[in-house]
Amino acid sequence: MTIEPDDMPTGVDLLHDPLRNKGTAFSATERDALALRGLLPPRIFTLDDQVDRALEMYGHKTTDIEKYIFLISLQDRNETLFYRLVVDHVVEMLPIIYTPTVGDACQAYGHIFRRPRGLYVTANDCGRMRDVLRNWRAREVQVIVVTDGERILGLGDLGAYGMGIPVGKLSLYTALAGIHPAECLPVMLDVGTDNETLLDDPLYTGLMQHRLRGEAYAEFIDEFVMACQDAFPGALIQFEDFATRNAITLLERYRDTILCFNDDIQGTAAVTLAGVVAGLRITGQALTDQRLLFYGAGAAATGIADLIVCAMVHAGLDRETARRRCWFIDSKGLVVASRNDLAPHKRPYAQEEEFITDLAASVARVRPTALIGVSGQPRTFTEAVVTEMGQVNERPLIFALSNPTKKAECSAEEAYRWTGGRAVFASGSPFPAVTLDGKRLTPGQGNNAYIFPGVGLGTIAAKATRVTDEMFYAAANTLCEQVPDEMLEQGSVYPPLTSIREVSARIAVAVAEQAFSSGLATAPKPDDMLAHVRSLMYEPVYRSYI
Ligand code: NAD
Repeated sequence: MTIEPDDMPTGVDLLHDPLRNKGTAFSATERDALALRGLLPPRIFTLDDQVDRALEMYGHKTTDIEKYIFLISLQDRNETLFYRLVVDHVVEMLPIIYTPTVGDACQAYGHIFRRPRGLYVTANDCGRMRDVLRNWRAREVQVIVVTDGERILGLGDLGAYGMGIPVGKLSLYTALAGIHPAECLPVMLDVGTDNETLLDDPLYTGLMQHRLRGEAYAEFIDEFVMACQDAFPGALIQFEDFATRNAITLLERYRDTILCFNDDIQGTAAVTLAGVVAGLRITGQALTDQRLLFYGAGAAATGIADLIVCAMVHAGLDRETARRRCWFIDSKGLVVASRNDLAPHKRPYAQEEEFITDLAASVARVRPTALIGVSGQPRTFTEAVVTEMGQVNERPLIFALSNPTKKAECSAEEAYRWTGGRAVFASGSPFPAVTLDGKRLTPGQGNNAYIFPGVGLGTIAAKATRVTDEMFYAAANTLCEQVPDEMLEQGSVYPPLTSIREVSARIAVAVAEQAFSSGLATAPKPDDMLAHVRSLMYEPVYRSYI
Protein backbone atom coordinates (compact mmCIF):
# COMPACT_ATOMS: atom_id res chain seq x y z
CA MET A 1 0.00 0.00 0.00
CA THR A 2 1.37 3.43 -0.83
CA ILE A 3 0.78 6.34 1.49
CA GLU A 4 -0.68 9.31 -0.31
CA PRO A 5 0.63 12.66 0.94
CA ASP A 6 -2.87 13.98 1.53
CA ASP A 7 -3.88 11.11 3.81
CA MET A 8 -0.63 11.24 5.79
CA PRO A 9 -1.49 12.17 9.37
CA THR A 10 0.79 14.40 11.38
CA GLY A 11 1.52 15.12 15.03
CA VAL A 12 -0.31 13.09 17.66
CA ASP A 13 -2.51 11.50 14.97
CA LEU A 14 0.58 10.03 13.33
CA LEU A 15 1.84 8.62 16.62
CA HIS A 16 -1.57 6.99 17.09
CA ASP A 17 -1.54 5.43 13.62
CA PRO A 18 0.02 1.98 14.16
CA LEU A 19 0.60 1.42 10.44
CA ARG A 20 2.80 4.52 10.10
CA ASN A 21 4.06 5.17 13.60
CA LYS A 22 7.82 4.73 14.09
CA GLY A 23 7.94 6.08 17.66
CA THR A 24 11.44 7.07 18.67
CA ALA A 25 12.73 6.12 15.21
CA PHE A 26 11.30 9.21 13.46
CA SER A 27 14.30 11.13 12.10
CA ALA A 28 14.95 14.80 12.97
CA THR A 29 13.77 15.84 9.49
CA GLU A 30 10.58 13.81 9.83
CA ARG A 31 9.94 15.27 13.28
CA ASP A 32 10.14 18.78 11.81
CA ALA A 33 8.10 18.06 8.71
CA LEU A 34 5.39 16.00 10.40
CA ALA A 35 4.75 18.21 13.46
CA LEU A 36 6.32 15.70 15.83
CA ARG A 37 8.93 17.92 17.46
CA GLY A 38 8.37 17.87 21.22
CA LEU A 39 6.01 14.90 21.11
CA LEU A 40 8.83 12.35 21.39
CA PRO A 41 11.84 12.02 23.66
CA PRO A 42 14.79 13.68 21.87
CA ARG A 43 17.08 10.71 21.27
CA ILE A 44 16.54 8.94 17.97
CA PHE A 45 16.72 5.13 17.86
CA THR A 46 16.88 2.57 15.06
CA LEU A 47 14.39 -0.24 14.47
CA ASP A 48 17.01 -2.68 15.81
CA ASP A 49 17.34 -0.63 19.01
CA GLN A 50 13.56 -0.71 19.40
CA VAL A 51 13.51 -4.47 18.86
CA ASP A 52 16.09 -4.87 21.65
CA ARG A 53 14.00 -2.73 23.99
CA ALA A 54 10.81 -4.63 23.16
CA LEU A 55 12.55 -7.96 23.67
CA GLU A 56 13.78 -6.86 27.06
CA MET A 57 10.24 -5.90 28.11
CA TYR A 58 8.84 -9.12 26.62
CA GLY A 59 11.38 -11.09 28.65
CA HIS A 60 10.03 -9.60 31.87
CA LYS A 61 6.54 -11.00 31.22
CA THR A 62 6.18 -14.15 33.27
CA THR A 63 3.04 -15.70 31.76
CA ASP A 64 2.07 -16.41 28.17
CA ILE A 65 -1.09 -14.32 28.43
CA GLU A 66 0.98 -11.34 29.63
CA LYS A 67 3.25 -11.87 26.63
CA TYR A 68 0.17 -11.94 24.38
CA ILE A 69 -1.13 -8.68 25.87
CA PHE A 70 2.28 -7.08 25.46
CA LEU A 71 2.52 -8.09 21.79
CA ILE A 72 -1.03 -7.03 20.92
CA SER A 73 -0.46 -3.68 22.62
CA LEU A 74 2.71 -3.26 20.57
CA GLN A 75 0.76 -4.13 17.42
CA ASP A 76 -1.74 -1.42 18.37
CA ARG A 77 1.08 1.16 18.69
CA ASN A 78 3.58 0.26 15.98
CA GLU A 79 2.88 -2.53 13.50
CA THR A 80 6.30 -2.38 11.82
CA LEU A 81 8.05 -3.00 15.14
CA PHE A 82 5.54 -5.72 16.06
CA TYR A 83 6.11 -7.59 12.78
CA ARG A 84 9.90 -7.14 12.90
CA LEU A 85 9.84 -8.75 16.34
CA VAL A 86 7.54 -11.62 15.33
CA VAL A 87 9.33 -12.34 12.02
CA ASP A 88 12.72 -12.47 13.73
CA HIS A 89 11.50 -14.54 16.73
CA VAL A 90 8.86 -16.65 15.07
CA VAL A 91 9.54 -19.90 16.94
CA GLU A 92 9.08 -18.22 20.30
CA MET A 93 6.24 -15.87 19.36
CA LEU A 94 4.01 -17.94 17.07
CA PRO A 95 2.62 -19.92 20.03
CA ILE A 96 1.88 -16.60 21.76
CA ILE A 97 0.11 -14.71 18.97
CA TYR A 98 -1.61 -17.88 17.80
CA THR A 99 -2.36 -21.32 19.18
CA PRO A 100 -2.14 -22.23 22.01
CA THR A 101 -2.04 -18.84 23.82
CA VAL A 102 -4.63 -17.21 21.55
CA GLY A 103 -7.10 -19.73 23.00
CA ASP A 104 -6.54 -18.38 26.53
CA ALA A 105 -6.72 -14.85 25.16
CA CYS A 106 -10.08 -15.51 23.48
CA GLN A 107 -11.50 -16.98 26.66
CA ALA A 108 -10.57 -13.79 28.49
CA TYR A 109 -11.02 -11.36 25.57
CA GLY A 110 -13.42 -8.98 27.30
CA HIS A 111 -11.25 -8.94 30.40
CA ILE A 112 -7.96 -8.14 28.65
CA PHE A 113 -9.63 -5.76 26.15
CA ARG A 114 -7.48 -2.66 25.44
CA ARG A 115 -8.31 -1.30 21.99
CA PRO A 116 -10.68 -2.65 19.35
CA ARG A 117 -9.12 -4.47 16.39
CA GLY A 118 -11.00 -5.66 13.35
CA LEU A 119 -14.59 -5.15 12.35
CA TYR A 120 -17.66 -6.31 14.26
CA VAL A 121 -20.68 -7.04 12.09
CA THR A 122 -23.64 -7.88 14.28
CA ALA A 123 -27.18 -9.18 14.08
CA ASN A 124 -28.25 -5.54 14.54
CA ASP A 125 -26.55 -4.63 11.24
CA CYS A 126 -28.84 -6.63 8.95
CA GLY A 127 -29.80 -4.44 6.01
CA ARG A 128 -26.83 -2.05 6.40
CA MET A 129 -23.75 -4.25 6.27
CA ARG A 130 -22.32 -2.40 3.27
CA ASP A 131 -22.22 0.78 5.37
CA VAL A 132 -20.53 -1.06 8.23
CA LEU A 133 -17.85 -2.47 5.89
CA ARG A 134 -17.28 1.00 4.44
CA ASN A 135 -16.29 2.19 7.90
CA TRP A 136 -13.13 0.12 7.58
CA ARG A 137 -10.08 2.37 7.18
CA ALA A 138 -8.53 0.74 4.11
CA ARG A 139 -9.99 0.33 0.66
CA GLU A 140 -7.45 -2.21 -0.61
CA VAL A 141 -8.42 -5.22 1.46
CA GLN A 142 -6.86 -8.40 0.06
CA VAL A 143 -7.69 -10.93 2.78
CA ILE A 144 -10.68 -11.15 5.12
CA VAL A 145 -10.63 -13.71 7.93
CA VAL A 146 -14.09 -14.12 9.40
CA THR A 147 -15.53 -16.13 12.27
CA ASP A 148 -18.85 -16.27 14.06
CA GLY A 149 -17.08 -17.49 17.19
CA GLU A 150 -19.06 -20.68 17.59
CA ARG A 151 -16.20 -23.21 17.59
CA ILE A 152 -13.06 -21.41 18.66
CA LEU A 153 -10.14 -23.86 18.41
CA GLY A 154 -11.33 -26.80 20.52
CA LEU A 155 -12.88 -24.44 23.07
CA GLY A 156 -16.44 -24.17 21.77
CA ASP A 157 -18.72 -21.13 21.55
CA LEU A 158 -16.87 -17.99 22.65
CA GLY A 159 -19.22 -15.55 20.92
CA ALA A 160 -17.68 -12.13 20.25
CA TYR A 161 -14.54 -13.14 22.15
CA GLY A 162 -13.73 -15.18 19.03
CA MET A 163 -12.36 -11.97 17.45
CA GLY A 164 -8.92 -13.03 18.73
CA ILE A 165 -8.85 -15.71 16.03
CA PRO A 166 -9.20 -13.54 12.87
CA VAL A 167 -6.86 -10.98 14.44
CA GLY A 168 -4.27 -13.70 15.14
CA LYS A 169 -4.66 -15.44 11.78
CA LEU A 170 -4.18 -12.19 9.89
CA SER A 171 -1.08 -11.41 11.94
CA LEU A 172 0.23 -14.71 10.59
CA TYR A 173 -0.70 -13.74 7.02
CA THR A 174 1.52 -10.70 7.44
CA ALA A 175 4.33 -12.23 9.47
CA LEU A 176 4.57 -15.50 7.52
CA ALA A 177 3.57 -14.57 3.97
CA GLY A 178 4.11 -10.82 3.84
CA ILE A 179 0.54 -9.73 3.14
CA HIS A 180 0.58 -6.01 3.99
CA PRO A 181 -1.12 -5.38 7.36
CA ALA A 182 -3.19 -2.58 5.81
CA GLU A 183 -4.68 -5.11 3.40
CA CYS A 184 -5.92 -7.50 6.09
CA LEU A 185 -9.42 -7.33 7.57
CA PRO A 186 -10.38 -9.37 10.65
CA VAL A 187 -14.16 -9.77 11.00
CA MET A 188 -16.26 -11.00 13.90
CA LEU A 189 -19.81 -11.88 12.92
CA ASP A 190 -21.65 -11.41 16.20
CA VAL A 191 -24.86 -13.36 15.76
CA GLY A 192 -25.16 -13.86 19.52
CA THR A 193 -23.86 -16.71 21.67
CA ASP A 194 -25.35 -19.80 23.27
CA ASN A 195 -22.61 -19.82 25.90
CA GLU A 196 -24.55 -19.09 29.10
CA THR A 197 -21.39 -18.27 31.05
CA LEU A 198 -20.69 -15.42 28.63
CA LEU A 199 -24.29 -14.24 28.71
CA ASP A 200 -23.96 -14.06 32.50
CA ASP A 201 -20.59 -12.25 32.31
CA PRO A 202 -21.04 -8.52 33.07
CA LEU A 203 -17.85 -7.75 31.08
CA TYR A 204 -18.86 -9.76 27.99
CA THR A 205 -18.37 -7.48 24.98
CA GLY A 206 -20.75 -9.13 22.50
CA LEU A 207 -24.49 -9.04 21.86
CA MET A 208 -26.36 -10.32 24.92
CA GLN A 209 -28.61 -12.66 22.96
CA HIS A 210 -28.77 -16.23 21.74
CA ARG A 211 -27.47 -17.12 18.28
CA LEU A 212 -29.34 -16.51 15.08
CA ARG A 213 -30.20 -19.87 13.54
CA GLY A 214 -31.81 -21.28 10.42
CA GLU A 215 -33.03 -18.92 7.73
CA ALA A 216 -32.13 -15.77 9.70
CA TYR A 217 -28.53 -16.98 10.02
CA ALA A 218 -28.28 -17.92 6.33
CA GLU A 219 -29.62 -14.50 5.27
CA PHE A 220 -27.21 -12.75 7.62
CA ILE A 221 -24.21 -14.58 6.14
CA ASP A 222 -25.45 -14.01 2.59
CA GLU A 223 -25.73 -10.28 3.17
CA PHE A 224 -22.24 -10.21 4.67
CA VAL A 225 -20.68 -12.13 1.76
CA MET A 226 -22.42 -9.91 -0.81
CA ALA A 227 -21.43 -6.75 1.07
CA CYS A 228 -17.79 -7.93 0.96
CA GLN A 229 -17.99 -8.41 -2.83
CA ASP A 230 -19.29 -4.86 -3.06
CA ALA A 231 -16.91 -3.13 -0.63
CA PHE A 232 -13.77 -5.18 -1.31
CA PRO A 233 -14.13 -6.84 -4.72
CA GLY A 234 -11.62 -9.62 -5.31
CA ALA A 235 -10.71 -9.99 -1.62
CA LEU A 236 -10.14 -13.54 -0.37
CA ILE A 237 -12.55 -14.63 2.39
CA GLN A 238 -11.24 -17.21 4.86
CA PHE A 239 -13.96 -18.81 6.97
CA GLU A 240 -12.61 -19.66 10.38
CA ASP A 241 -13.83 -21.55 13.45
CA PHE A 242 -17.49 -21.89 12.49
CA ALA A 243 -19.39 -24.82 14.04
CA THR A 244 -19.11 -27.94 11.89
CA ARG A 245 -22.57 -27.84 10.33
CA ASN A 246 -22.17 -24.20 9.31
CA ALA A 247 -18.53 -24.61 8.24
CA ILE A 248 -19.42 -27.36 5.80
CA THR A 249 -22.61 -25.67 4.57
CA LEU A 250 -20.95 -22.28 4.00
CA LEU A 251 -18.03 -23.79 2.13
CA GLU A 252 -20.37 -25.73 -0.14
CA ARG A 253 -22.53 -22.65 -0.66
CA TYR A 254 -19.79 -20.20 -1.63
CA ARG A 255 -16.73 -22.13 -2.86
CA ASP A 256 -17.87 -22.18 -6.50
CA THR A 257 -19.08 -18.60 -6.65
CA ILE A 258 -16.57 -16.45 -4.73
CA LEU A 259 -12.90 -16.47 -3.74
CA CYS A 260 -13.04 -18.25 -0.37
CA PHE A 261 -11.94 -21.26 1.62
CA ASN A 262 -12.35 -22.74 5.07
CA ASP A 263 -9.07 -23.13 6.90
CA ASP A 264 -10.38 -25.61 9.48
CA ILE A 265 -11.38 -27.92 6.66
CA GLN A 266 -9.03 -27.26 3.75
CA GLY A 267 -5.99 -25.75 5.51
CA THR A 268 -6.03 -28.53 8.11
CA ALA A 269 -6.38 -31.08 5.34
CA ALA A 270 -3.34 -29.77 3.49
CA VAL A 271 -1.08 -29.53 6.54
CA THR A 272 -2.07 -33.03 7.64
CA LEU A 273 -1.63 -34.54 4.17
CA ALA A 274 1.82 -32.94 4.03
CA GLY A 275 2.64 -34.46 7.45
CA VAL A 276 1.42 -37.91 6.43
CA VAL A 277 3.38 -37.86 3.16
CA ALA A 278 6.50 -36.59 4.95
CA GLY A 279 5.93 -39.35 7.56
CA LEU A 280 5.98 -41.87 4.71
CA ARG A 281 9.38 -40.49 3.73
CA ILE A 282 10.43 -41.75 7.21
CA THR A 283 8.64 -45.11 7.13
CA GLY A 284 9.41 -45.76 3.46
CA GLN A 285 5.80 -46.73 2.68
CA ALA A 286 3.48 -45.70 -0.15
CA LEU A 287 0.46 -43.44 0.37
CA THR A 288 -1.73 -45.92 -1.49
CA ASP A 289 -0.92 -48.60 1.13
CA GLN A 290 -2.10 -46.49 4.08
CA ARG A 291 -5.12 -47.14 6.27
CA LEU A 292 -6.05 -44.10 8.31
CA LEU A 293 -8.19 -44.10 11.42
CA PHE A 294 -9.58 -40.69 12.33
CA TYR A 295 -10.57 -40.17 15.93
CA GLY A 296 -13.25 -37.51 15.45
CA ALA A 297 -15.43 -37.19 12.34
CA GLY A 298 -16.05 -33.45 12.21
CA ALA A 299 -15.11 -30.74 9.75
CA ALA A 300 -11.36 -31.23 10.20
CA ALA A 301 -11.45 -35.04 9.99
CA THR A 302 -13.53 -35.40 6.82
CA GLY A 303 -11.72 -32.43 5.25
CA ILE A 304 -8.40 -34.25 5.78
CA ALA A 305 -9.86 -37.49 4.43
CA ASP A 306 -11.25 -35.73 1.33
CA LEU A 307 -7.79 -34.38 0.48
CA ILE A 308 -6.08 -37.70 1.27
CA VAL A 309 -8.54 -39.38 -1.10
CA CYS A 310 -7.66 -36.73 -3.71
CA ALA A 311 -3.94 -37.51 -3.18
CA MET A 312 -4.53 -41.29 -3.37
CA VAL A 313 -6.44 -40.77 -6.63
CA HIS A 314 -3.47 -38.76 -7.96
CA ALA A 315 -1.29 -41.73 -6.89
CA GLY A 316 -3.39 -44.18 -8.92
CA LEU A 317 -6.21 -45.50 -6.68
CA ASP A 318 -9.82 -45.18 -7.70
CA ARG A 319 -11.93 -42.90 -5.50
CA GLU A 320 -14.00 -45.59 -3.85
CA THR A 321 -10.97 -47.72 -2.93
CA ALA A 322 -9.29 -44.60 -1.55
CA ARG A 323 -12.34 -43.82 0.58
CA ARG A 324 -12.29 -47.34 2.00
CA ARG A 325 -8.77 -46.57 3.35
CA CYS A 326 -10.25 -43.90 5.65
CA TRP A 327 -11.98 -44.99 8.87
CA PHE A 328 -13.70 -42.72 11.39
CA ILE A 329 -14.78 -42.80 15.00
CA ASP A 330 -17.18 -40.12 16.19
CA SER A 331 -18.63 -39.49 19.66
CA LYS A 332 -20.81 -42.61 19.31
CA GLY A 333 -18.23 -45.02 17.85
CA LEU A 334 -17.03 -46.43 14.54
CA VAL A 335 -18.65 -44.83 11.48
CA VAL A 336 -20.26 -47.86 9.83
CA ALA A 337 -22.96 -48.34 7.22
CA SER A 338 -25.44 -49.94 9.63
CA ARG A 339 -25.76 -46.64 11.55
CA ASN A 340 -28.72 -44.47 10.67
CA ASP A 341 -27.57 -41.40 12.63
CA LEU A 342 -24.72 -40.28 10.33
CA ALA A 343 -24.46 -36.65 9.19
CA PRO A 344 -24.17 -36.27 5.37
CA HIS A 345 -20.43 -35.49 5.45
CA LYS A 346 -19.69 -38.83 7.17
CA ARG A 347 -21.82 -41.07 4.96
CA PRO A 348 -19.33 -41.47 2.08
CA TYR A 349 -16.90 -42.93 4.61
CA ALA A 350 -19.26 -45.40 6.36
CA GLN A 351 -17.61 -48.82 6.29
CA GLU A 352 -19.22 -52.25 5.98
CA GLU A 353 -18.03 -53.31 9.40
CA GLU A 354 -19.45 -54.21 12.78
CA PHE A 355 -20.20 -51.24 15.05
CA ILE A 356 -17.75 -50.84 17.94
CA THR A 357 -17.35 -47.98 20.35
CA ASP A 358 -13.95 -48.59 21.89
CA LEU A 359 -10.89 -46.88 20.32
CA ALA A 360 -8.31 -49.53 21.30
CA ALA A 361 -10.63 -52.27 19.98
CA SER A 362 -11.07 -50.26 16.75
CA VAL A 363 -7.31 -50.02 16.33
CA ALA A 364 -7.04 -53.79 16.78
CA ARG A 365 -9.87 -54.35 14.26
CA VAL A 366 -8.92 -51.77 11.58
CA ARG A 367 -5.14 -52.11 12.01
CA PRO A 368 -4.53 -48.53 10.84
CA THR A 369 -1.10 -47.35 9.74
CA ALA A 370 -2.00 -43.83 10.91
CA LEU A 371 -4.12 -42.62 13.82
CA ILE A 372 -5.27 -39.01 13.46
CA GLY A 373 -6.79 -37.28 16.51
CA VAL A 374 -9.24 -34.50 15.62
CA SER A 375 -11.81 -35.06 18.34
CA GLY A 376 -11.15 -32.20 20.76
CA GLN A 377 -11.11 -34.93 23.45
CA PRO A 378 -7.96 -34.77 25.58
CA ARG A 379 -5.97 -37.80 26.74
CA THR A 380 -7.99 -40.26 24.65
CA PHE A 381 -4.91 -41.81 22.99
CA THR A 382 -4.27 -43.85 26.11
CA GLU A 383 -1.37 -46.20 26.73
CA ALA A 384 -3.54 -49.11 25.54
CA VAL A 385 -4.38 -47.32 22.27
CA VAL A 386 -0.86 -46.17 21.50
CA THR A 387 0.64 -49.54 22.46
CA GLU A 388 -1.81 -51.25 20.11
CA MET A 389 -0.72 -48.88 17.30
CA GLY A 390 2.87 -49.91 18.07
CA GLN A 391 1.92 -53.57 17.86
CA VAL A 392 0.29 -53.36 14.44
CA ASN A 393 2.98 -51.11 12.93
CA GLU A 394 6.75 -50.95 12.90
CA ARG A 395 6.52 -47.13 12.62
CA PRO A 396 2.98 -45.96 13.48
CA LEU A 397 1.92 -42.45 12.44
CA ILE A 398 0.25 -40.84 15.46
CA PHE A 399 -1.07 -37.31 15.01
CA ALA A 400 -2.77 -35.70 18.04
CA LEU A 401 -4.11 -32.58 16.34
CA SER A 402 -6.67 -31.26 18.81
CA ASN A 403 -5.97 -27.74 20.03
CA PRO A 404 -5.03 -26.11 22.28
CA THR A 405 -2.36 -28.18 24.06
CA LYS A 406 -4.66 -29.22 26.89
CA LYS A 407 -7.02 -30.81 24.34
CA ALA A 408 -4.38 -32.95 22.62
CA GLU A 409 -5.27 -36.65 22.45
CA CYS A 410 -1.82 -37.50 23.86
CA SER A 411 1.52 -35.79 24.33
CA ALA A 412 4.63 -36.31 22.23
CA GLU A 413 6.40 -37.84 25.18
CA GLU A 414 3.60 -40.40 25.68
CA ALA A 415 3.49 -41.36 21.99
CA TYR A 416 7.25 -41.94 21.96
CA ARG A 417 7.45 -43.70 25.34
CA TRP A 418 4.56 -46.08 24.66
CA THR A 419 6.01 -47.13 21.28
CA GLY A 420 9.66 -47.31 22.33
CA GLY A 421 10.42 -44.22 20.24
CA ARG A 422 8.99 -45.74 17.02
CA ALA A 423 5.99 -43.41 16.60
CA VAL A 424 6.10 -40.68 13.98
CA PHE A 425 4.29 -38.04 15.99
CA ALA A 426 2.76 -34.66 15.12
CA SER A 427 0.42 -32.42 17.08
CA GLY A 428 -1.74 -29.35 16.57
CA SER A 429 -0.09 -27.33 19.33
CA PRO A 430 3.65 -27.44 19.95
CA PHE A 431 5.28 -30.05 22.22
CA PRO A 432 8.93 -29.91 23.30
CA ALA A 433 11.53 -32.33 21.97
CA VAL A 434 11.91 -35.60 23.90
CA THR A 435 15.09 -37.56 24.59
CA LEU A 436 14.45 -41.30 24.74
CA ASP A 437 17.25 -43.84 25.22
CA GLY A 438 19.75 -41.15 24.30
CA LYS A 439 17.97 -40.24 21.02
CA ARG A 440 16.47 -36.80 20.55
CA LEU A 441 13.01 -36.87 18.98
CA THR A 442 11.49 -33.62 17.71
CA PRO A 443 7.72 -33.70 17.27
CA GLY A 444 6.32 -31.85 14.28
CA GLN A 445 3.59 -29.27 14.74
CA GLY A 446 0.84 -29.66 12.14
CA ASN A 447 0.19 -25.97 12.26
CA ASN A 448 -2.15 -24.61 9.57
CA ALA A 449 0.17 -21.61 9.55
CA TYR A 450 2.41 -23.60 7.22
CA ILE A 451 -0.36 -23.56 4.62
CA PHE A 452 -2.94 -20.77 4.66
CA PRO A 453 -0.63 -17.72 4.42
CA GLY A 454 1.05 -19.17 1.33
CA VAL A 455 -2.31 -20.14 -0.20
CA GLY A 456 -3.57 -16.58 0.33
CA LEU A 457 -0.41 -15.10 -1.16
CA GLY A 458 -0.72 -17.44 -4.16
CA THR A 459 -4.29 -16.35 -4.86
CA ILE A 460 -3.17 -12.71 -4.69
CA ALA A 461 -0.19 -13.35 -6.99
CA ALA A 462 -2.47 -14.90 -9.63
CA LYS A 463 -5.51 -12.70 -8.88
CA ALA A 464 -7.34 -16.00 -8.67
CA THR A 465 -11.12 -16.09 -8.82
CA ARG A 466 -11.59 -19.33 -6.81
CA VAL A 467 -9.72 -21.48 -4.31
CA THR A 468 -9.80 -25.18 -5.22
CA ASP A 469 -8.88 -28.48 -3.55
CA GLU A 470 -6.22 -28.91 -6.24
CA MET A 471 -4.57 -25.74 -4.90
CA PHE A 472 -4.48 -27.26 -1.40
CA TYR A 473 -3.11 -30.50 -2.85
CA ALA A 474 -0.36 -28.48 -4.56
CA ALA A 475 0.28 -26.61 -1.29
CA ALA A 476 0.56 -29.89 0.67
CA ASN A 477 3.04 -31.38 -1.80
CA THR A 478 5.13 -28.22 -1.70
CA LEU A 479 5.16 -28.20 2.10
CA CYS A 480 6.21 -31.84 2.19
CA GLU A 481 9.06 -31.14 -0.24
CA GLN A 482 10.32 -28.39 2.08
CA VAL A 483 11.00 -30.80 4.99
CA PRO A 484 14.77 -31.27 5.09
CA ASP A 485 16.19 -34.79 5.61
CA GLU A 486 17.75 -33.79 8.93
CA MET A 487 14.28 -32.91 10.29
CA LEU A 488 12.95 -36.30 9.18
CA GLU A 489 15.88 -38.00 10.92
CA GLN A 490 14.76 -36.41 14.21
CA GLY A 491 11.19 -37.58 13.55
CA SER A 492 9.75 -34.21 12.53
CA VAL A 493 7.42 -34.20 9.52
CA TYR A 494 7.38 -30.42 9.09
CA PRO A 495 10.10 -27.93 8.15
CA PRO A 496 11.60 -25.66 10.81
CA LEU A 497 9.36 -22.69 11.61
CA THR A 498 12.34 -20.45 10.98
CA SER A 499 12.00 -21.20 7.25
CA ILE A 500 8.28 -20.49 7.13
CA ARG A 501 8.41 -17.31 5.01
CA GLU A 502 10.35 -19.22 2.38
CA VAL A 503 7.86 -22.10 2.66
CA SER A 504 4.97 -19.63 2.19
CA ALA A 505 6.62 -18.16 -0.90
CA ARG A 506 7.07 -21.64 -2.44
CA ILE A 507 3.47 -22.58 -1.60
CA ALA A 508 2.27 -19.31 -3.14
CA VAL A 509 4.13 -20.19 -6.34
CA ALA A 510 2.52 -23.67 -6.44
CA VAL A 511 -0.96 -22.23 -5.79
CA ALA A 512 -0.57 -19.45 -8.36
CA GLU A 513 0.73 -21.94 -10.97
CA GLN A 514 -2.29 -24.12 -10.24
CA ALA A 515 -4.58 -21.10 -10.70
CA PHE A 516 -3.01 -20.36 -14.08
CA SER A 517 -3.13 -23.97 -15.27
CA SER A 518 -6.79 -24.32 -14.31
CA GLY A 519 -7.87 -21.04 -15.90
CA LEU A 520 -8.70 -19.37 -12.58
CA ALA A 521 -6.02 -16.65 -12.77
CA THR A 522 -6.85 -13.15 -13.99
CA ALA A 523 -3.39 -11.56 -13.55
CA PRO A 524 -0.90 -11.48 -16.43
CA LYS A 525 1.37 -14.50 -16.03
CA PRO A 526 4.84 -13.43 -14.84
CA ASP A 527 7.96 -15.00 -16.38
CA ASP A 528 9.43 -15.71 -12.97
CA MET A 529 6.65 -16.63 -10.54
CA LEU A 530 8.91 -16.89 -7.48
CA ALA A 531 10.37 -13.43 -8.11
CA HIS A 532 6.85 -12.07 -8.62
CA VAL A 533 5.65 -13.63 -5.34
CA ARG A 534 8.65 -12.31 -3.43
CA SER A 535 8.04 -8.82 -4.83
CA LEU A 536 4.58 -8.85 -3.25
CA MET A 537 5.82 -9.70 0.25
CA TYR A 538 5.78 -6.96 2.87
CA GLU A 539 8.99 -6.57 4.88
CA PRO A 540 8.68 -4.92 8.28
CA VAL A 541 11.20 -2.10 7.86
CA TYR A 542 10.76 1.64 8.25
CA ARG A 543 10.43 3.77 5.15
CA SER A 544 11.34 7.41 5.06
CA TYR A 545 8.29 9.71 4.89
CA ILE A 546 10.30 12.68 3.65
P1 NAD B 1 -15.82 -30.74 15.12
O1 NAD B 1 -16.60 -30.32 16.28
O2 NAD B 1 -16.35 -30.54 13.74
O3 NAD B 1 -15.48 -32.31 15.25
C1 NAD B 1 -15.24 -32.99 16.43
C2 NAD B 1 -15.49 -34.45 16.16
O4 NAD B 1 -15.07 -35.20 17.30
C3 NAD B 1 -16.97 -34.79 15.93
O5 NAD B 1 -17.08 -35.69 14.86
C4 NAD B 1 -17.38 -35.50 17.22
O6 NAD B 1 -18.38 -36.50 17.02
C5 NAD B 1 -16.06 -36.16 17.61
N1 NAD B 1 -16.02 -36.49 19.01
C6 NAD B 1 -16.45 -35.76 20.07
N2 NAD B 1 -16.29 -36.47 21.20
C7 NAD B 1 -15.74 -37.64 20.85
C8 NAD B 1 -15.35 -38.77 21.58
N3 NAD B 1 -15.46 -38.83 22.89
N4 NAD B 1 -14.84 -39.82 20.90
C9 NAD B 1 -14.71 -39.77 19.55
N5 NAD B 1 -15.07 -38.72 18.81
C10 NAD B 1 -15.57 -37.66 19.46
O7 NAD B 1 -14.41 -30.03 15.24
P2 NAD B 1 -13.27 -29.93 14.13
O8 NAD B 1 -13.34 -28.63 13.45
O9 NAD B 1 -13.29 -31.14 13.29
O10 NAD B 1 -11.97 -29.90 15.07
C11 NAD B 1 -11.68 -30.99 15.91
C12 NAD B 1 -10.37 -30.74 16.62
O11 NAD B 1 -9.33 -30.65 15.68
C13 NAD B 1 -10.33 -29.46 17.45
O12 NAD B 1 -9.81 -29.74 18.72
C14 NAD B 1 -9.38 -28.57 16.70
O13 NAD B 1 -8.61 -27.80 17.59
C15 NAD B 1 -8.50 -29.57 16.00
N6 NAD B 1 -7.92 -28.99 14.79
C16 NAD B 1 -6.58 -28.99 14.68
C17 NAD B 1 -5.97 -28.43 13.58
C18 NAD B 1 -4.48 -28.45 13.46
O14 NAD B 1 -3.82 -28.83 14.36
N7 NAD B 1 -3.89 -28.07 12.36
C19 NAD B 1 -6.76 -27.85 12.60
C20 NAD B 1 -8.15 -27.87 12.73
C21 NAD B 1 -8.73 -28.46 13.83
